[in-house]
Amino acid sequence: MSLASLQEAIERAPRGSQCRKDLLRLLDAMSAGEEGTKSEGVLKSVLDLRRIGSQLEEMEAIARQSTEEPDALQKKRLERAPTVVLDPGHGGNEYGATSEGLRESHLALELAKRAREMLREMNPEIEVYLTRDGDYRVSLEQRAELANAAGADVFVSIHLNDAKGEIRRGGVTTFVLDASNDARLLERAARENGISIEEVSELSLLLASFDRGARVSASLRLAESLQRSTLRGGRSVLPHLHDRGVRRAAFQVLIGAKMPAVLLEASFLNVPEEREALRTERYKRALARGITRGILDYLYPAE
Ligand SMILES: [Zn+2]
Repeated sequence: MSLASLQEAIERAPRGSQCRKDLLRLLDAMSAGEEGTKSEGVLKSVLDLRRIGSQLEEMEAIARQSTEEPDALQKKRLERAPTVVLDPGHGGNEYGATSEGLRESHLALELAKRAREMLREMNPEIEVYLTRDGDYRVSLEQRAELANAAGADVFVSIHLNDAKGEIRRGGVTTFVLDASNDARLLERAARENGISIEEVSELSLLLASFDRGARVSASLRLAESLQRSTLRGGRSVLPHLHDRGVRRAAFQVLIGAKMPAVLLEASFLNVPEEREALRTERYKRALARGITRGILDYLYPAE
């Protein structure tokens, strides 16, 4: 079974059904597999189970019924619990930023796991998935595909920043996808994407033709909520944490995602004050709480 057909099956599966849970577990298994072939193997054996086969038939029947009752389907969609996908950046032999024994890939995973716990605690109905829950490599395309397959309402890629040379102020930045010709932004995008600046530049040109409709404005709302809340969380420990604001850049991991998607740089690894704070439970918990609240504020805006 390919990722695409798994994605289709999940999209068809009724929310909250055992079948959907099984399919999402498969998705987890896929993201946990180090090799594509291994994941395919896991998928195949589980999908061979007759139980899932019969549930798929049931799903088809429900899907047919649903097209006959569009009002009921719409109602169901509005009432369903949201799905959140958290994407810890880098992993495996891709460390991301490093500074004095700290590794971006480790910290991003830690923040994502904490945020997952907090989201589940604050709203047990929310489905939360990580694109990786261990220290292994996942391709940028696969991260976005996993979010699409999970039918995510929100995609948050979690990173830690660094800067070349001496930097006076670090801080929190949230990025939304956009074409950018700013040299420094292109450089950062090249590093996060693992490609050359020239390639990012080409990517930017491609992006210029992308739609800037509803998804972009939803991504901006998500970014603003996440930025505000992560900053508030961080400032509970570092009162002068700098607000670098919401910015636009050509991050490849955001391109494939079909839902509102943002990339958070939660702090700077090479700013001494932030690096030392990142070694403490208190700061990591504060950032994770900020990420959690930012997502919840976006999903449930105050009326
Ligand atoms: Zn990164």
